[in-house]
Order: sequence, then C-alpha cells, then structure tokens
Amino acid sequence: MAPLQIERIDTFPLLHKLTKAYGDANGYKRYRTCFLIRITTKSGVQGWGECIDWLPALEQVFQYRITPYLLGKKATDRLTVVKEASRWNKRAAAGVSMALTDIVAKAAGLSLCNLWGGQQHERLPVYASFQSYIEDEHWMDGSLDLIGKALDRGFAMIKVKIGGRTFEEDRRHLAAVNKTFGDKMKIAVDANQSYDLATALRWEQEFAKVPQMMWFEEPLPPNFVKEYKLLRTKMCVPIAGGENQQGAELFAALLQDQAIDIIQPDIMHESGVDTFRHSLMLSRTFGVRVSPHTFDGALSRLFTLCAMACLPPWSKMKGEAIEPVEWDVMENPFTELFPITLHNGMVTLPDGPGIGVEPDGEILKRYRWDGLQGCD
Ligand code: MG
Repeated sequence: MAPLQIERIDTFPLLHKLTKAYGDANGYKRYRTCFLIRITTKSGVQGWGECIDWLPALEQVFQYRITPYLLGKKATDRLTVVKEASRWNKRAAAGVSMALTDIVAKAAGLSLCNLWGGQQHERLPVYASFQSYIEDEHWMDGSLDLIGKALDRGFAMIKVKIGGRTFEEDRRHLAAVNKTFGDKMKIAVDANQSYDLATALRWEQEFAKVPQMMWFEEPLPPNFVKEYKLLRTKMCVPIAGGENQQGAELFAALLQDQAIDIIQPDIMHESGVDTFRHSLMLSRTFGVRVSPHTFDGALSRLFTLCAMACLPPWSKMKGEAIEPVEWDVMENPFTELFPITLHNGMVTLPDGPGIGVEPDGEILKRYRWDGLQGCD
C-alpha cells in the first residue's frame, strides 16, 4: 500500500442565515453552520471529516494547533493521532478521526461498512427531527404544517420538542400532533433537560394517550442518575438521553445504574469514530437500545448510519431489528451536502470506497463563511 502520510489539511467553514429562526427549550437557532475538513495524503488519497463548534474557534484550533501537528503523521496511526488531538480539542479530534478512517478505507478499496466488519442491515430507518418552536404565537400550527410535509415525504417516525413552553402549552401541542398524525407516525418527544422529576412525571398520563410513543428524551440533566432511574420505573415509555456525553465511560455510569432505556451518543460530541462505535456497542453489552443523536451535519450522519449498519440487531422483531437514526428536516442547506438515498424514511448507504460519496462542490462554494457573519 502507498504511504498514507498526511500532506495537507483544508478546512471548509460554512454558514447559512435562516429565513426564520426555530428552536427548542435551549433557545432559537438563527444560523446553521457546518465545518468540514479534507485531509490529503502524499499518495493523493483524501478523506473527509466534520466538526461542530463555533466556527472561529474551529478555524483557529486547526490553523494553530491541529494542522501543524497532523502534517507528516500517518493516517494509519489514527488512534494515537486522535488521542493527541483530543487533548487540545475533542470536537476537532472527532473530525480528524472521520477523515483518517475515510482515508484508510479508500486506500484499502473498502466501504466504511466493509472496513468495520460488514453491513448487517440493508437499509436504515431514520426519523424526522423537528425544532418545534418559532417566534410566533401560532407556533403549533407551524409545527403541524411541518410534520404534514414530513409525512408527505414518507417519514413514519418523528421527534418533536417539549420543555420550552409551559407544560399546558406543550401538552396541547402533543395532543394535536397525536390527533392529526398519531395513527400514521410514531412519535418521540425531546425536553432538552428542561424538567425536574415532578414535572417529568406529569407527562406519564399524557404519554398513555399516545400509543405510538417511541421515547421521552432528556427529561432531566444527565447527572441526575437517581432521578432517571426512578423515572424509568414510573413511565410507560422508554427514557432516552446522552447526546452530550463525551465518551463510553459516561454512558457506562447510566447503564450500570439501569437508569436509561435508549442511549443517544453523538459522533461529533465524542472524540471520534472509534469512541463513538464503542458507545454504540455498549448498548448491546447492556441489553438496551441506541438511537444516535445526529442533528448537526450530513457527513457525521453518514458515518453514524454506517456504524449503525454494522451493529448487531437489538431485537428479533421483524422490521424493528435496528433502531432509527435522527434526520434533520428543518431549513438547513447542509443536509444535502453529501447525497444519500432516502426513500419512505429508509436510507440506502453508498457502497463505494470510504464514505462512498463526495460533497456537493456548489454548496461548499455558495455557503463559505466570510469570517464575520454569525460571530455575534
Ligand atoms: Mg435531544
């Protein structure tokens, strides 16, 4: 094999100002960003990675720390290189990890799935993920309208936000979603750590009216392990969470205490592909489900889907052998950056070497961050 020495790193910071802000219990998003890296080896093999953070911070850490360190290293030394990079910046290390994995797979002429032991699921289910709140008193109408569009696109599973309005307002929203779509779609709710135990428990009687409930996501802050455990014994729906955990050991604490039903690692919040895959496998070790969080980018979502495709089934139930992956359906041009075949809420993975697809050059050019906008 030709040497896989790193010769060049290019960064692609992208920014899009939303036509209308949308949000969740944490507030409104007014911009969507994307930060891609492309690593080129001496032999010409290139790999792509993605990071999520404030664009100026990522630009600086690559320029002054990560890029000088990476030059001359070997892509095949991924674990050592990523461990060192993660000492300076875990978010940057995640992108490096993706790019080096892509390079090794391409050099071997293998798809990511074949590199990781082979695809166990031919197609992967995805659910439409919403940011339900807009700056408008009629936000519920807007939410129902968006869900209707997702139904028309063939999605059979959705996730809506709660926790950013009063309990009563969110209760009416969920009731309306259930009334309009409950017989056609499965529904998850996400509170973004908005509640205390007593408020989270109030949802039990509402969830009982929604037969298609999939899960209750992040009702409480993740360090409330005792409360999660208690909640789990009192609720009729699975409790999910963990999108901000930075490694398998943090999931292990929740799992050892039997405090959660579905773990939700995010490949960009962990320090890369290898720790992320370790977290996915923990679900199988502990006999719980995993539904990865992946709202922030098309490339990280592609890596996530490939990793899920290689995961053993969680159940023998036909049609439910593998858990769904998140799919951003909000206004976000970067969703289209890496073309993936999506049909009726099911994804077919590319089978070329590495990630199997190239980013859309037109989108890379059109949304290039000017170094100023969105820094406020
Ligand atoms: Mg969430």
